[in-house]
Amino acid sequence: KEKTLAIIKPDGLFGNHTDKIKNAVSESGFTICEEKIVQLDEESVMSFYAEHSSKSFFGSLVKYMTSGPVLLMILEKENAVADWRALIGPTDARKAKITHPHSIRALCGQNSEKNCVHGSDSPQSAQREISFFFEEKSSG
Ligand code: ATP
Repeated sequence: KEKTLAIIKPDGLFGNHTDKIKNAVSESGFTICEEKIVQLDEESVMSFYAEHSSKSFFGSLVKYMTSGPVLLMILEKENAVADWRALIGPTDARKAKITHPHSIRALCGQNSEKNCVHGSDSPQSAQREISFFFEEKSSG
């Protein structure tokens, strides 16, 4: 089965959306393989979002993602990457409220930055992001 990395961002934890999101996770058939709450520092956010380092919103994104703890989850199911992206909805939570009103970002997010959750955008990103945050488990 496929794995993806989900993050409940600081606004998700502060806003008490965790239970609602976890219910959606299990109702949609995902298994949570591993999870942990961490406080990210600026360095790790800059590295995680390196592809956005030249964007105008990068500084604000780093501030937002370090504003409080996040919940990291490895989710597993068939087609996990695409199915989790579909469940969370579009990046801009304001647009999500109109086009995907039942999506997690529509229900819990606020705008194009404070959108409550993250999901890996491809199986390759999922592998990179999972090993970025979680230790490789040895098989022996
Ligand atoms: P994520 O990678 O967190 O799942 P995404 O793939 O939907 O989100 P990206 O384009 O990769 O969106 O942007 C990464 C994150 O940067 C977004 O989730 C959001 O928090 C922030 N972001 C994206 N676009 C903007 C914007 N125009 N203004 C402010 N913040 C933004």
